[in-house]
Amino acid sequence: MADIRLEGVGHSYDGGRTWALKPMTWTWREARAYALLGPSGCGKTTLLNIVSGLLSPTVGRIWFGDRDVTSVPTAGRNIAQVFQFPVLYEQMSVYDNLAFPLRNRRYPKAEIDQRVRRVSQLLGLDEHLHRRSRRLDPGRQQIVSLGRGLVRSEVAAVLLDEPLTVIDPALKWTLRSKLKEIHRDTGHTLIYVTHDQTEALTFADEVVVLKDGEVVQSGTPAELFLSPAHEFVGHFIGSPGMNVLPAEVAGGLVRVGEAVIGRAVGELPPGPVRVGVRPEFVRVSAARETPGVKARVKGVDRMGAYHLVRADVDGHDLVAKVDAGSHHTPGAVEFFHFAADGAFLFRDEVRCGSIAP
Ligand code: ATP
Repeated sequence: MADIRLEGVGHSYDGGRTWALKPMTWTWREARAYALLGPSGCGKTTLLNIVSGLLSPTVGRIWFGDRDVTSVPTAGRNIAQVFQFPVLYEQMSVYDNLAFPLRNRRYPKAEIDQRVRRVSQLLGLDEHLHRRSRRLDPGRQQIVSLGRGLVRSEVAAVLLDEPLTVIDPALKWTLRSKLKEIHRDTGHTLIYVTHDQTEALTFADEVVVLKDGEVVQSGTPAELFLSPAHEFVGHFIGSPGMNVLPAEVAGGLVRVGEAVIGRAVGELPPGPVRVGVRPEFVRVSAARETPGVKARVKGVDRMGAYHLVRADVDGHDLVAKVDAGSHHTPGAVEFFHFAADGAFLFRDEVRCGSIAP
């Protein structure tokens, strides 16, 4: 195993008029579990296919360690792949399907048995090991495909493209933590494509967020949640996503409408900005306590474990996630306070500063 490095790699499907993947330089570090997250059409599969060799980049070079693999086909890259739908030998037993990639590479018999049993145990396949694959339901078949992708030890990377799509939601939860466990066990470099933030956040050491063919931020799940570098990351990660309100910087202060919400921190020339604050960092009270915005409550959504208090600030939605025990009434005018370490300033969607009390 080694780092996988993309050097100025980009891809255009239309001769350079538009870029599905804008030229980028990027390193996938050895033994790390990455989630490649972004909405449909942002270029996730294009990027994954370039790493696997299914697609040649329009520009740039790809390195596996110190080996330039740019023109090496998939078969010569020594990677394992798991797709959205099961890819199995249907006539073979589950055991033989799991053992196949190992027998193909002449692993010793005892090691094959040990690896197959370990993966089978982790993925809950023990009772199915001697059944024919075609007799399993599609969800279980996909778990076997996942096992086939993870069973080898010496791969350069395991690439997974939305591998849990056909699995029912209850089982997905279990599988995500199993995947984490298997990753700890095998130390593979994993690149896991998904458009589902929960999947990405629960599984990955590092989440790479793609938008319109470029990486807008990468980091641990906590970094992306607590410190979004781009408005898009604030919206895309979190439930509900980050609030964004138009604001103004003047005389070192940040105002939303007439209300001062704090001091501007950062190299900020005066002028319009946008304030981003997650619902988790908005506190609601009947009186002004710290700098905050006065607004009328539009509605309260009771979500069980918490409530969402929705307000209107000059035509923009502001949502606060509050304790289920607190009481707020639609129509009441309240104060919405922003926690200083949870509110950020954005210009042209990119973070340019933060707020101090
Ligand atoms: P999804 O989650 O829907 O699979 P994605 O993030 O994986 O989306 P890609 O499939 O990589 O995105 O597509 C990126 C862009 O490239 C999209 O605009 C898509 O329409 C375009 N595209 C993808 N494959 C082709 C192709 N074979 N020919 C032309 N355009 C393509």
